[in-house]
Amino acid sequence: MSECLFCKIVAKEIPAEIVHETGRTLAFRDITPQAPTHVLVIPKTHHADAATLAKADDGLADEVLKTAHEVAVIDGVSDSGYRIVFNTGPAAGQTVAHVHAHVLGGRDLTWPPG
Ligand code: AMP
Ligand code: ZN
Repeated sequence: MSECLFCKIVAKEIPAEIVHETGRTLAFRDITPQAPTHVLVIPKTHHADAATLAKADDGLADEVLKTAHEVAVIDGVSDSGYRIVFNTGPAAGQTVAHVHAHVLGGRDLTWPPG
């Protein structure tokens, strides 16, 4: 999708601080971090949201989840604990229509979230 912000990051048309990359996924630091670790994990192919990604049913959702855990290991928060969030749709506050997992950690995270 030529007008998609995260497709442009995949295409290296917009810079990002890459944390980890696999064949089909990319992890980069959120530009407005909400925690010491705040990394976005995306599939390199365009899917609008978590529901669309799940429907693809080709193992890509698994790979996104595995990359999210790998990010937690890389940032040293896998033992202390971390949160993986997919904001899905307007009521959840999704602002970028290319599915992304937020990986948050490095501080105590309140529950329930706002
Ligand atoms: P969401 O509100 O769940 O759709 O999350 C979108 C996230 O993308 C927000 O946390 C933004 O801070 C983040 N974001 C927007 N533009 C960029 C960018 N160019 N590089 C990294 N993160 C970004
Ligand atoms: Zn996209």
